[in-house]
Amino acid sequence: MKKIIFGSANENKVQEIRAKLDGVVQVLSLNDIGFKEEIEEYGATLEENARIKAETIYQKYKRPVFSDDTGLEIESLNNEPGVRSARYAGEPRSDEKNMQLVLRRLESYKNRKAKFRTVFCLIDEDGKAHYLEGVAKGSILKEKRGEKGFGYDPIFMPEGYAISFAEMSQDEKNQISHRGKAVDQLVNFLKNENNVD
Ligand code: IMP
Repeated sequence: MKKIIFGSANENKVQEIRAKLDGVVQVLSLNDIGFKEEIEEYGATLEENARIKAETIYQKYKRPVFSDDTGLEIESLNNEPGVRSARYAGEPRSDEKNMQLVLRRLESYKNRKAKFRTVFCLIDEDGKAHYLEGVAKGSILKEKRGEKGFGYDPIFMPEGYAISFAEMSQDEKNQISHRGKAVDQLVNFLKNENNVD
């Protein structure tokens, strides 16, 4: 079976994608290939960061690879925190501080529309980059709700729902989440194009 590297150190993400690509391609994790370096994410956009990660690994192994990057984009804050989502409130990285900063900055705004966006950059065997994305639209709540999930989940309410991501089961969230949708796009691309070696 054809093989493709997923340039992520997050084993949960690797498992999710591997399950969806079962029988289509064999997904190798960074652990599988023994890649241990930290890749600096200096890009100004999600697309750039996803590409930097994929490109770094492609240069070393010269085989198909994909990487992801995700951010929360809030309309009233000019799409911040976006590419800075993980460390919006600075170091050390804290989900709690990030959420408090978002809530504070949004205090005076009526428009609380936001979206999560996940971008995959896939580099094929010829070194050509392809981008796939998934979006979950919603709004930022006035205060935290729910205990599940991670990151900004307690303050994000997806469109068409009256509960936050942190009040949903993992399954429920996966079905409508940015990451779930982006993974589906990636899986379709790999199934249709079959352009991995
Ligand atoms: P990553 O690119 O998947 O590492 O995501 C970057 C940051 O975006 C994370 O550290 C979280 O703060 C935030 N984030 C990504 N996905 C989610 C999600 O599904 N729920 C809440 N926050 C998320």
